[in-house]
Amino acid sequence: MSREVNRLRERVRQIDGKILQLTKERLDLVRRIGERKRLLGLPVTDLAVEREVMERAIAVSNAIGLDERVARELVGLLIWESVRVQGGATLNRASSLYDIFEGAEELEAKGERVIRLDAGEPDFLIPSKTLKVAKRAIDDRALSGYVSSWGLPELREALAEKLTLEFGVDLKPENILITPGGKFAVFAAILAYISTGDRALIVEPSWPVYAACVEIARGRADIAHTTLEDNWRIDLDTVDTALATGAKLLILNSPCNPTGKIIEEGTLREMAGMAEKRGAYILSDEVYHAYAFKPHKSILQVANSNFIYADSFSKEFGMTGWRIGYAVSDPQTIEKMHKILQMSVTCLPGFIQKTALEALKSGSDSKANPFRKIMEGRINVACRELDRLPVSYMRPEGAMYIFPKVNREGFDSKVFANSLLREAKVAVAPGEAFGRYPEHLRLSMTASKPDVKEAIRRINAHLKL
Ligand code: PLP
Repeated sequence: MSREVNRLRERVRQIDGKILQLTKERLDLVRRIGERKRLLGLPVTDLAVEREVMERAIAVSNAIGLDERVARELVGLLIWESVRVQGGATLNRASSLYDIFEGAEELEAKGERVIRLDAGEPDFLIPSKTLKVAKRAIDDRALSGYVSSWGLPELREALAEKLTLEFGVDLKPENILITPGGKFAVFAAILAYISTGDRALIVEPSWPVYAACVEIARGRADIAHTTLEDNWRIDLDTVDTALATGAKLLILNSPCNPTGKIIEEGTLREMAGMAEKRGAYILSDEVYHAYAFKPHKSILQVANSNFIYADSFSKEFGMTGWRIGYAVSDPQTIEKMHKILQMSVTCLPGFIQKTALEALKSGSDSKANPFRKIMEGRINVACRELDRLPVSYMRPEGAMYIFPKVNREGFDSKVFANSLLREAKVAVAPGEAFGRYPEHLRLSMTASKPDVKEAIRRINAHLKL
């Protein structure tokens, strides 16, 4: 090997050593800043500072002739690591939700009866006719081996047809990817558009999975905080600023878990226009669209491009454990998401897809979904009961949750939810799992009317302790 190559390699090694040494120095400084922030009661993340650091790095890279993409990746990683050493990871938020779930499961395993208003799991079973198809599909050899990683062609076609009919849009099978639950559609969409240092805008309160997925992709979450007092309205200036300063993805959920809010058509149109103008994408999670109690507009109806629609068989057809959902987008985005799915889960079991196809055929009009009426009935009962409690809430416009705020100074939903579970055997989700909402509780309407009523009676009694 030429001596010149060896000499150059040695220099590269020395530079690597210097980069690592400087990285260590940088993180030591960041740790000290973190300690100061803690003393001063300041939050870990300061998006204005992050933005400025990134803009400076890009300006320097342009000045010295370094590919801007490399600067984004490197500085994005440094920012990500800095947040981590200052203890600002967001994954913990999701864990308070799963802690209650695990706690309730444990009590039930010991034979206790717990009223479960914690999980987003409809207590409806798929019809027996659909189940018969499932049993036959399991016996079909062709459906128990590997199948297409895009999804069964007949299922993609049936979904394209259903969505075309329902939303009056022109969709083709190549716009659709079958995924293991709506959750994987969300995960793959985030992974497709967010990498180290990229920013995604999340509207809070939100399902904690979005922030966790952004973190897994080593991206950064900007937050558009909304409030009960403002009827959970999204501030369009916040969205515009985030997109104008380079956020790549705007994550929406309508009807919303946990608030039950349906985004107004005008607001949705404005945001679709902003995303298109800035070259950003909207990930619109609409897994609760079959549970809309007032007119609901889909991103499919208002956006021409730059969107990913995520949906699922879990809520619409009571198929949570079957793990089947889908994403709709332009063929290029579907291709990117498909790569992620193909290189991880390979494909969805054929017999599950066949069952989903049957579910679709026997109940394809989601506006006439029989579960919606049941959910609405339970929400009515719950609201009547809640009106006797010291709480404020917005009557849900869709989905299957109520997100009341407890009107008590210093109320801590996490402490309350834990003691409610242990002492009153009622499982609810603490508001802090969904963002900065420690005074809120999320009640899932996943139990019968008498159980919902009894659970709220016990919450009232527990509030008085
Ligand atoms: N999106 C939201 C807002 C949810 O609440 C859930 C489940 O609770 C999902 C997506 C994913 O559901 P699944 O993966 O079962 O389709």
